[in-house]
Amino acid sequence: MEVSLSGWGRYPVQRCRVYRPESLKALKEVLASKTESSYLARGLGRAYGDAALNEGGGVILQTRRNRFLGFDEAAGVVRCEAGVSLAEILDVFVPRGYFLPVTPGTKFVTVGGAIASDVHGKNHHKDGTISNFVADLDLLTADGNRMTCSPDENADLFWATVGGMGLTGVILGASLRLIPISSSYIRVDYHKARHIDEAFEMFEATDEQYQYSVAWIDCLAGGRSLGRSVLMRGNHVPAEELPEALRGRPLHTGKKRMLTVPFDFPSVTLNYTSIRAFNALYYRVSKGSPGVLVHYDPFFYPLDAVLHWNRLYGKRGFLQYQVVFPFETSREGLIALLERLARDRRSSFLAVLKRFGAEGPGLLSFPRPGYTLALDIPARDRGLFAFLRDMDEWVLKMGGRVYLTKDAELAPELFAAMYPRLERFREIKGRIDPENRFSSSMARRLRLVEGAR
Ligand SMILES: Cc1cc2nc3c(=O)[nH]c(=O)nc-3n(C[C@H](O)[C@H](O)[C@H](O)COP(=O)(O)OP(=O)(O)OC[C@H]3O[C@@H](n4cnc5c(N)ncnc54)[C@H](O)[C@@H]3O)c2cc1C
Repeated sequence: MEVSLSGWGRYPVQRCRVYRPESLKALKEVLASKTESSYLARGLGRAYGDAALNEGGGVILQTRRNRFLGFDEAAGVVRCEAGVSLAEILDVFVPRGYFLPVTPGTKFVTVGGAIASDVHGKNHHKDGTISNFVADLDLLTADGNRMTCSPDENADLFWATVGGMGLTGVILGASLRLIPISSSYIRVDYHKARHIDEAFEMFEATDEQYQYSVAWIDCLAGGRSLGRSVLMRGNHVPAEELPEALRGRPLHTGKKRMLTVPFDFPSVTLNYTSIRAFNALYYRVSKGSPGVLVHYDPFFYPLDAVLHWNRLYGKRGFLQYQVVFPFETSREGLIALLERLARDRRSSFLAVLKRFGAEGPGLLSFPRPGYTLALDIPARDRGLFAFLRDMDEWVLKMGGRVYLTKDAELAPELFAAMYPRLERFREIKGRIDPENRFSSSMARRLRLVEGAR
């Protein structure tokens, strides 16, 4: 079926032919039919730009392949099909005393999508990306074979597939190491930083005390308040430390009721003025409170409480721009980016700052040691692309890079310079999929693989 499809940012929108196989046999038949010039697996479509699009080609939805296959209680390892969502894992395993080892800011992503983007969470400074917890994965390759890959078996293919944006094949399933918890709660310290230097000082001085750490940053505050932020950092709470009132159900999964945005808001709703007013208010009302007990759901997934929140940006959608600067250049890099954003009167409703730990292990993994900033910028005008091109060049000059799973605009030569292990990825891709049976709109835009269709 041919449909108009987009990522979570709703830019770009492209025509793709969509397949929704329910079994491995049906999936193999889709690939073997060679009806399309190329194919791409897709999960829950939470990548923002064109990573999960394949314009004019086949997109194979994985969401119906969502069975749990087993659980090794002694090792805390769950085995499941790639279409299982992180929300489903939480629903089943939190009541048993297990939590996700790494989670992005939404639970509505599939295991396959999380691995293909080698996602990071608020604990990256401690634990790295999700691939550190993937014991093994099964990959359906272009020749129709099923290969088991892990850091020990077919290791080359494993490191090309984690963070490989679906270009090495279809991840069929994976074994994921969960972490033990005894309660659903996080004890969170909120600290206000008056400017970017104070935020850096707090991150440097105390980040190691926290498993989870992130800052919301008011990207429209200027002058001496540039980079003012609210740091939110916390640790899992042992059940015995819960107050009496919560001890009865220490491992509950939270409320299921959700608000929904039922229609597209006019594109002007989130503009410079409204976002600036919101940011100022948010900073003022946020208290610098220590030791607040917060259920994991609002702590990790505040946006999931509003279904289709991406409609707030109107039909034209928005671009998420996430970059990382090495520690040495973080201050200079971030200040210039924030100043330029304010000067151009470009607003970001959500701006998140985080300190990364070690380099991501996948050949195309995004994280590297340094500070990462994520911005949601409304796609109001064509000038945005010129602005982002300038920012991309700046990020590269500072030794940083742009996150592929959020990207919709990076140029191929800048991409190649930002990802030094690209050649190694291309070698493996050339070996495993010489005819480029797996491709995507992003792969063609970034010339990620030679001669991609
Ligand atoms: C609100 C929000 C917050 C987010 N926060 C974070 C964050 O904190 N950290 C972070 O790292 N990311 C974050 N993300 C991005 C998100 O985690 C990734 O884009 C993730 O890959 C989405 O998973 P998905 O199942 O929706 O995959 P899709 O968006 O459908 O696909 C993403 C990529 O994975 C590939 N893929 C999907 N399934 C398979 C499969 N079975 N086999 C092979 N390839 C596959 C696709 O081809 C595509 O390249 C966030 C996204 C949103 C909307």
